[in-house]
Amino acid sequence: MAKVRFEHVRKVYENGYVGVADADFEVGHGEMLVLVGPSGCGKSTLLRMVAGLETITSGTLSIGDRVVNEVSPRERDIAMVFQNYALYPHMSVAENLAFGLRLRGTPKGERERRVAEAAAMLDLGRLLPLKPAQLSGGQRQRVALGRALVRQPAVVLRDEPRSNLDAQLRLSTRVEIAKLHRALGATMIYVTHDQIEAMTLGQRIVVMRDGRVQQIDAPMRLYERPANTFVATFLGSPKMNLLQGPLLERDGALRVRVADGIELALAPSPALQAKLRARVGREIIAGLRPEHLHVARGGDAAALPARVEAVEPVGNEAFLNLRCGGCDLVVRLPPHGLPAAGDELRLGYDAAHMHFFERDSELRIDEDAA
Ligand code: ADP
Repeated sequence: MAKVRFEHVRKVYENGYVGVADADFEVGHGEMLVLVGPSGCGKSTLLRMVAGLETITSGTLSIGDRVVNEVSPRERDIAMVFQNYALYPHMSVAENLAFGLRLRGTPKGERERRVAEAAAMLDLGRLLPLKPAQLSGGQRQRVALGRALVRQPAVVLRDEPRSNLDAQLRLSTRVEIAKLHRALGATMIYVTHDQIEAMTLGQRIVVMRDGRVQQIDAPMRLYERPANTFVATFLGSPKMNLLQGPLLERDGALRVRVADGIELALAPSPALQAKLRARVGREIIAGLRPEHLHVARGGDAAALPARVEAVEPVGNEAFLNLRCGGCDLVVRLPPHGLPAAGDELRLGYDAAHMHFFERDSELRIDEDAA
């Protein structure tokens, strides 16, 4: 197990395309770090640079205390779990598990001990004599993981299974990986474009966009304190509602005018209030997650007029799609006693959970920032 350190790592492809602009962070000893972002944001490029499958244009990459920019993949002591399971079809599960160790000349006794250990951990005992073709997709995933783990590498890398993994299999693999990570304490870097996978697996998450790291933090910190509107809307489903308008101050109270006659009343903390007052007269973006909106009762003077466009019950909850002063909003509600499409209602909001972003930079207006 080892830490991995990126220092101003940059990847420019031969055609001049910047795959990764300036990665500068560390993956801790035994940490499960998840790289997440939309397709093409540079996640796999970053992972492949750690694996040694992609050259590094500039910057320094270290595994443990060793700079590995020029070290070949074989000598990096990493294991990569590929998206296609890449098991040898003519070998049994036991032989697949032992193969890497045999290549490295690990003595037979040691080999058998490690295979037995990995098989026990992954619940593969019964499958050891079988061939890959006789396994289910989930079992093949577990064997692929097992094959990486028997080598006891310093770092385990896993690119997302983009393949036809069904939702159930994704979930069980996720649970499996989380359990394994806890049991082994291996340093793992995991790539996914799936924000749920990122939130549930990552001890920390690196959110990327267009080759650039947007924010690195624990999942709930990212959810509660997104650094910009991209992170705010990327994590969370349905995504955060964003409302834009000029920031006003009336009778000492701060408001955002999102449309003619429609104003959000703000209730910022004292520290944030000072930051917002300095921006009165400018356009800002207010963010509200779907769970922080509700259908208002009679006495809520701050409530906004809205019209129901669509109602989506999903079992344990429901989503209301609303039109409010030219904005489309989504509200998360309990699934009973719902309004109907076409209904006019008043929309309440939890002002204490409002996020604020600058309109031009789209950066969070943060009470803790200098
Ligand atoms: P992700 O894993 O986030 O989907 P990638 O790291 O695979 O994204 O790719 C990042 C960007 O680099 C993409 O826009 C992709 O098209 C580009 N890219 C990847 N490989 C090459 C290459 N060999 N030459 C030029 N551009 C590439």
